[in-house]
Formats: sequence, C-alpha cells, structure tokens
Amino acid sequence: MSTEKINVAEIFGENVFNDTVMQERLPKKVYKNLKKTIEEGKELDLETADVIAHEMKEWAIEKGATHYTHWFLPLTGVTAEKHDSFISAPLPSGKVLMSFSGKELIKGEPDASSFPSGGLRATFEARGYTAWDCTSPAFVRQDAAGATLCIPTAFCSYTGEALDQKTPLLRSMEAINKQALRLLRLFGNTTSRKVTPSVGPEQEYFLVDAEKFEQRKDLIYTGRTLFGAMPPKGQELDDHYFGTIRQRIAAFMKDVNEELWKVGVTAKTQHNEVAPAQHELAPIYAEANIAVDHNQIVMQTLKRVACQHGLKCLLHEKPFAGVNGSGKHNNWSITTDDGINMLDPGKTPHENTQFLLVLTCILRAVNMHADLLRESAADPGNDHRLGANEAPPAIISVFLGEQLEDVLDQLISTGEATHSLKGGKLETGVRTLPELSKDATDRNRTSPFAFTGNKFEFRMVGSRDSIASPNIVLNTIVAEAFADACDVLEKADDFDLAVHDLIKKYATENQRIVFNGDGYSEAWVEEAEKRGLPNIRSMVEAIPAMVTDTAVDLFERFGVFTKAELESRAEIQYETYAKAINIEARTMIDMASKQFMPAFIKYTKTLADTVNAVTAAGADASVQNEVLNEVTALMGETKKALDALVKVTDEAAAKEEGAVQANFYHSDVFPAMEALRAPVDKLEMIVDKEAWPMPSYGDLIFEV
Ligand code: ADP
Ligand code: MG
Repeated sequence: MSTEKINVAEIFGENVFNDTVMQERLPKKVYKNLKKTIEEGKELDLETADVIAHEMKEWAIEKGATHYTHWFLPLTGVTAEKHDSFISAPLPSGKVLMSFSGKELIKGEPDASSFPSGGLRATFEARGYTAWDCTSPAFVRQDAAGATLCIPTAFCSYTGEALDQKTPLLRSMEAINKQALRLLRLFGNTTSRKVTPSVGPEQEYFLVDAEKFEQRKDLIYTGRTLFGAMPPKGQELDDHYFGTIRQRIAAFMKDVNEELWKVGVTAKTQHNEVAPAQHELAPIYAEANIAVDHNQIVMQTLKRVACQHGLKCLLHEKPFAGVNGSGKHNNWSITTDDGINMLDPGKTPHENTQFLLVLTCILRAVNMHADLLRESAADPGNDHRLGANEAPPAIISVFLGEQLEDVLDQLISTGEATHSLKGGKLETGVRTLPELSKDATDRNRTSPFAFTGNKFEFRMVGSRDSIASPNIVLNTIVAEAFADACDVLEKADDFDLAVHDLIKKYATENQRIVFNGDGYSEAWVEEAEKRGLPNIRSMVEAIPAMVTDTAVDLFERFGVFTKAELESRAEIQYETYAKAINIEARTMIDMASKQFMPAFIKYTKTLADTVNAVTAAGADASVQNEVLNEVTALMGETKKALDALVKVTDEAAAKEEGAVQANFYHSDVFPAMEALRAPVDKLEMIVDKEAWPMPSYGDLIFEV
C-alpha cells in the first residue's frame, strides 16, 4: 500500500492555466485584455490571442504536453476531442518547431458531419467550428496518451446554430445575469456587477471488478445488466450507506481525488451510497459552466482511474435491477460577483422581502415549466429511476420546508404573513412580512426540487447525463420569472406595496407546485393529478415539451435557443432513445442466443443423463425429472420471447427515424425485452451456478 503523502495545497490546480499562471506569464496588457473578455464577454483580438496562445503552449510543454485539443460537448452526451500536436512543418534543417497560434487557440474547425445535428445539417452543410470559452480555464490532462492541453470550447455550425451544450448554457447564464441584475437594482443594489448561477453536482456511480465486467456483454455494450436475478441479499440492511470504505475502493478514490485536484476540480465529499458497490463524489460548487465542464472531467476521471485499479466504473442510471440506481443531485443557487447569494434569506426585513420575491419567482418558473425541467432530466437510463420508488418521482414539485410553507400559507390566506415558525420578530411596514432565518434542519429526500437552506437541489438528473440541460432550463425559466416581475415592479408607484402584492400573487397562483410530503407515495400521484401537475413517466413522453409554443417563446425571448435549435434537439433526443433501446435489444438477443440457450441445452442434457442414470440404477428419479421439466418449460418461454424480440426489434429498426420510431421502441420493444428477461432470471435461480455462462449479481456487487 502506498503511504506517500500528498500535499493537496501544492498539487491543486497545478495543471490548470488559471489566473495565477496567467498573471505570472502574460504581459500586463494582455492579461488585462483577457480578464476583460472573461468578465464582460468582449471579443478577443488576434494579437492578444497570439500572445496568450504562445504562453499557454510554453506552459503546457513544460507540463509535458505534446498535443492540444479543443474539448467540447456535442449532443452525444460525452465530450469530444480531436488532438493536434504542436509540431510545425519541418524546417529546411529537417527539424520542427513547436507552435500554437492565437487563431488555433480561439477557433477550431472539426468536421461536424459525424455529430448529431438533428436536421440542422440540412441548413448548414457539414462544417462546424469550435470557439474557445475563456471563462472555463484550459488544463493539461495526463493519461496514457501523454499530456494534452485541453481547451474548453463551444461548438457551433457555420451559420451560428448551437450544436453543443455549452453554447446555450452560456446564453442562459447571460439571460439570468441580466434579469437578476434588474431585480437587484429594484431593491437598491447598485454595487453588484454580475450574477452567476452556482452549481454543485453530486455524482453517484458503481464500481465493479473489471474481469467480471468483461464477461458481461450487457455491461460492455449498454452499461447496464439486461439479465440478472437478485442475490439473497440486496440493500435492505442499509449497511453499505456511509459504511467504511473498503481498501480497494479507498485506493481508487485517493487516485481520483489526486487527478481531479491537479486539474482544478474541487473534489470534496466521498462516501458509499445506498446500493452495494455504489459510491458518491461531490465537488465544491462552482460557476455553472465550470461546474458542467468539471462534471465531465469527473466522469472521465472515474472511468480512467477505475481501469488502472482493475475496476470498471458504471455511470449508467440503473446498472442493476432491484437495487438503487444512480443520479446526480444538481445543487443550484444564484450569486453576485460581490458574494450575495440571492437564495439566502438574509438578515433584514428588506433582504427577506427580496428573498421571498426570488423564491416565489422560482415557484412560478417551476410551475409554468415543470415539463421542461422534467425533460431536461430525461435520458434512456433515467426511465428506470424516475417514478420507481427510489429516485424522485417523475412528477415535478417543490419542497420548501415548514417555515417557508407556513409563511406562504399565511400570505395566501390573509394577504399578510405576520410571523414565522422559526424566526420571531414581526416586521411592520405597509404590509407585514416576517423575519426568516436559514433553516437547514428540514430535509426531504423524496422531493425532486427541494429548497435546502440557501440553494435548490434538483434531484432528477441521471448519473450519466450532462448537467448542462437542467441548468440551461433552470437559468432560463428563472430569468423569465425575474423579467416578468421586473416588468411589473419597474412601473409601480409604491414599490413596497407592489412587491408585497406580487409575492402574494405568485404564491397563490403557483401553490399547487409546493409539496412537502412523501413524494414516493401512491397518494401523491393521485393528489398531483388532482392539482393538474404533469406526470411524465418516460423519456419519449417528455421530449415534446421542448417544442411547445410556450417553450419556443421562452427560449427565443431570452436568446437561448431558436425554434430550429429546439426542433433539432428534440429530434436528437428521439434518435438517442431509439438507438439506446435498439442496442439493448440486440445485446439481449445476442446473449440469449449465444450464451443462455446453449447453456440451457447443455444443462438439460446433464439433467436428462442424470434422470436416465438414476432410473437405470432402479431409484426414483422424480425430483430430477421435475427439475428437468421446469427448466425445459422455462427454456421454451425463453425461446418464444427471444423470437418475439427479434421480430419486434426488426420491425422497429425498419421505421423512419424520429418520434414514431422512438415511441415504438418504448411501447413495443421495451416490453418484449422485459418478457425475455423474466424466464432467464427465473432459470438463474434453478440452474447450477457452474453452468451459468456469466458472473451473477452477487459476484458483481458483493465481490468488488
Ligand atoms: P447532501 O448530500 O447533504 O445534499 P453534499 O455535501 O453531498 O450534500 O453536496 C452538496 C453540494 O451542494 C456540494 O456540491 C456543495 O458544494 C453544493 N452547494 C453548497 N452550497 C451551494 C450553493 N449555495 N449553491 C450551489 N451549490 C451549493
Ligand atoms: Mg451528498
């Protein structure tokens, strides 16, 4: 075991081209220009870019880098990169120089034709370009490929349509910045210059032994098990959650942390999660676009380091049926450049009023666009979680905690809120609003969107998904609510009165979205239906939310997405779903035909031989015979289900891509997969372990 000490303070950020490095290495004027670009979004001139590129290259080469890459987030869900070495064309002497120009830094031109564009391609020909996002620092990544300078970039078509996650995210951050500043000014704030959403995602994942993983085609091709009976023990004892971390896993976590710290990711919390072999990692929150990039780095690092430890990291939302799946809690708040968290209740009545307005604006945003928020967490894997008694339900509601719910109730019923459960003093003004205090004791684990003291925690996001979409939606819907509120308040004669009335109005109109009870209960499903809240159970049912008139108006109003971009994204979502289910179905067909059926045939032969031998010996073979009949019957079911799955999958694949095909995969192929799984899982409980062709659930999750 390695006991070498790590000096965290020293290694933290050592591979990041961060502010300290820039100050040290860039000429003053260049540094100033760059800071202006970062803070005010001004365009960078080529001369400045040349100097930065040169220094960045020198710095990266010192770290051992031979290549650079524009690192971006296309709509495949994983990051993309194309590596270019720094070498220039050979000189007459036959030697090469290492070069990197400003132009190469700020713009790349990958061939976009192999990335999903959802029909946008028709309007833009295949070319795309990547553009440096200088608000997210460049870093040097060290891996088996050596060291690579990674430059976070946005990815657009030549006509400017977004083909990635970063572009709309940056646009949504600008939208909320602008509207939040308007709101702050109304409350007399003249000092804050910028408002940024802060995001802290908690990442869940599973670790399994690599050798066992390699024996499961389902894990290899789809990231989840498509067959598998539950072992005698699952997670019912709750002995894994927060339990002592085993040495093999601890060694893995140590290396993960070290790698993350080096590239400036603030890995902070780690613990065992509910399911056996499940764990969590959370960083300290950061500005939304950095948090999104860092979350991608976290996912890549988990996978890479796992391999170095003879492990495999499963990021799928539901790797194993019967135990909890994995999600990603997206903690979100809005912070000013001078350190004010707009979701902090504050200490004075004035701050409390602003807080209550922000809060009720968020209620309104979530109530109006619950379908969009739900859609932002939709991915094929998450269909196994949402609504399945472990993750939050598929119904969006907001948990506020006792104190706040009580204040809103008072406001709604009497028009005034005269006291607060945890605070105390009455505040008299034109109308009264009570003093609020931060209330961290209230916890509700079943709510999909919970207020937790000074932030909201959106708990629906899938573990494998990028957190960009949920944050794009959150930023934009809240920007809209702020904008609408400001439109009213900027015209008001009596501001105090107008604010009070608006808080009451929003609280009343959006009360149905507030729910503090048990989100897992059947009663809530019925209650939510009575309240008219959408209950969107699957990805294919969620996708249409992206292209409703309401959604198009919203996103176009704030310049986050054009209608064409939204339509293309919906198209990509349908394709993603259809492809994922198609791969799963084909993997099941492959496993059933080439592994399970042959194993069953062999096993029945052994049983039949036994029956004959026992009978020949003059003994009673009825028990052996019974097992043989049982296995044969289940084999028959398996074969029938397999044939049905083959047929329906072929039928699905022949359909035209898009909504119809995706819906068919959901309504017809998916149930056929379940039907094939059932008899095989039953057989797993009967067939001799020696005869089973792959590691079982028990082997995978209890023997890491
Ligand atoms: P828990 O599991 O109790 O919800 P964790 O400590 O695991 O909490 O994770 C909480 C996450 O929320 C961390 O990433 C943390 O940095 C982040 N966070 C804390 N405060 C804020 C805030 N004001 N805005 C956004 N994220 C925050
Ligand atoms: Mg946590």
